[in-house]
Amino acid sequence: MKKLLPALALAPILSLQAIAAENKNFNYHVDNFADIEVLRYEVPQFDALSLNQKVMLYYLSEAAQAGRDIIWDQNGRYNLKLRPVLEAIYTGYAGDRDSADFKAFETYMKQVWFGNGVYHHYSNDKFTPAFSEEFFDNAVAALPAGTLRLDEGETPEECIAVLKKVIFDPTFMPKKVVQDGSKDVVAESAGNLYGEGVTQKEVEAFYDAMKDPSDPTPVSYGLNAKVVKGADGKLHEEVYCLNGLYGTAIARIIDWLQKALPLAENDAQRAYMEKLIEYYTTGDLRLFDEYSILWAEDTKSDVDFVNGFIESYNDPLGMTGSWESYVNFKNREASARTEAISSNAQWFEDHSPINPAYRKPEVKGVSAKVITASYLAGDAFPSTAIGINLPNANWIRAAHGSKSVTLENITEAYALASVGNGFNEEFVIDKPTSDWMDEWLYITDMLHTDLHECLGHASGRLAPGVDQDALKENGATLEEARADLFALYYLPDAKLQEIGVLADPDAYKAEYYKYMLNGLMTQLNRIEPGKDVEEAHMRNRQLIAKWVLEKGQPDNVMQLVKRDGKTYVQINDYVKMRQLIGDLLAEIQRIKSEGDYEAGNELVQKYGVKIDPELHKEVLERYSTLNIPPYRGFVNPVYNLEKDADGNIINVTLDYTESYPAQMLRLSRDHSTL
Ligand code: ZN
Repeated sequence: MKKLLPALALAPILSLQAIAAENKNFNYHVDNFADIEVLRYEVPQFDALSLNQKVMLYYLSEAAQAGRDIIWDQNGRYNLKLRPVLEAIYTGYAGDRDSADFKAFETYMKQVWFGNGVYHHYSNDKFTPAFSEEFFDNAVAALPAGTLRLDEGETPEECIAVLKKVIFDPTFMPKKVVQDGSKDVVAESAGNLYGEGVTQKEVEAFYDAMKDPSDPTPVSYGLNAKVVKGADGKLHEEVYCLNGLYGTAIARIIDWLQKALPLAENDAQRAYMEKLIEYYTTGDLRLFDEYSILWAEDTKSDVDFVNGFIESYNDPLGMTGSWESYVNFKNREASARTEAISSNAQWFEDHSPINPAYRKPEVKGVSAKVITASYLAGDAFPSTAIGINLPNANWIRAAHGSKSVTLENITEAYALASVGNGFNEEFVIDKPTSDWMDEWLYITDMLHTDLHECLGHASGRLAPGVDQDALKENGATLEEARADLFALYYLPDAKLQEIGVLADPDAYKAEYYKYMLNGLMTQLNRIEPGKDVEEAHMRNRQLIAKWVLEKGQPDNVMQLVKRDGKTYVQINDYVKMRQLIGDLLAEIQRIKSEGDYEAGNELVQKYGVKIDPELHKEVLERYSTLNIPPYRGFVNPVYNLEKDADGNIINVTLDYTESYPAQMLRLSRDHSTL
């Protein structure tokens, strides 16, 4: 029987069923290959925007497309050499396009597009081709002259030889990001964020010499630079800027930003855009900080965007930013929810179950909004995040606050594309739990993202003198754990009913169950047999779930049970589970605040990395019966301009019909910059 719930003060998040009923004519499914499904996302309310806003979003989408080649180059030094060859084979192959070789080649092509290069976007492993070298040799021999991108002095034979090593030799530059602390993570990582022959020790010494530990407002060292070794054997930075590395791509980005500038919605927005252009022009990281502050403090604009070198997950040292762009506009109705949360940020901070010394005495300007994504690019495309919280610099977050956004139309697309896929029936322990998840998971998932982005990352503070990079290769995992734990801790809190964002005090159980199931079992679907957990968010989820499983044993909080030979997660005590989550939050906050590398590393290694091979095998087998791809990403809508006889733009419309290959080939044709 349905419980009678209090009416919410705010527009409630609709249940998934209600949204599905509204969106039944939108087809989310675009393409399927290897372990990937490509979806499309809808941009609701685009037509209701003003002409100025629509044109601005169009210019910003162009600025986003202009940076595409940067991420390809950052992801591997041969990617831009390889792409035109693969695409020429894909479009021009005159042999049997139904042959096994061509089909395997097509899959590889689609994987490379999805990875923005030859490495898997999530596992960081090099893709394994299933077509033969002979097929490739013949196809390359038939290519029109001029297809190969030769370096100076390079012969076509040499070029083809290196491309074949990239494609076919599994030992040649096998992994984009190596995180194993026992290795030289800089030298061993195949990503192109450091020059050839540069070692981890050298890079660390290079930046240690630059850092002033007493500087209260340090720049984000290395964020926009490739560290290379000169002829003299010394390291120096090649800075990403107009007259530096990636200058031709950055010139185009600046051009489009200049076009968008007169359409800025207010002075605050104009100021951050001008500062961003200045930063792109000079590469000066002080200007990036100034831009970040202006951006974080602009909370009035509807149209908004990120365009730059932002997240450092692809750098094993967590310093260099991968290029990305998010173009979006505010979803006003849904933002009332995140505003209710962020306006109570101090309350959440004050009640956080951590050492009071590590709470922020004054939470500064956590602004939160729900947005509608209208263009994704760079490291945010085709695979994308569902929430973002920026800027990343700790001192800016402490002194000026941060902006937290939830990408609701993306979350919605994920959820609606999954309706009826059989997941619950296979993995959830019983019908009541499954029904509870059907009713509440979408809503609590959304709130989890809000709490994670808006409060979790923004919470806590470092002890004086602690280096924000002290946790090294575990920094990202522990930071994600901190934010997740903060969100999980507060989901059951009566405060959420009080501020009117969640109706049922038991709703959180849907999220708890899914979180533990995912961390202990189902996320293993994303990992090949025999491998470890690598990616920061995945390590974080496993760390939390395994830690809670172990520490909850004396009270039988949660267990893995067997039924008919299948393993299920059974949660016996949700209340104690919340306490354990609070305990772990306190410990991870302590580790971060004190820069306790040893303790952090032990947690990550003990709980976050290793996999039980038997359970892994079982999860993969059970998934294989469901036909649910482990990874998903998106194509963007195509922007169409309507112009009058004088060439003035009179309207902008979005077209959702472009196929995945057509979109990728169009981007290569129209937006190659490097
Ligand atoms: Zn996060």
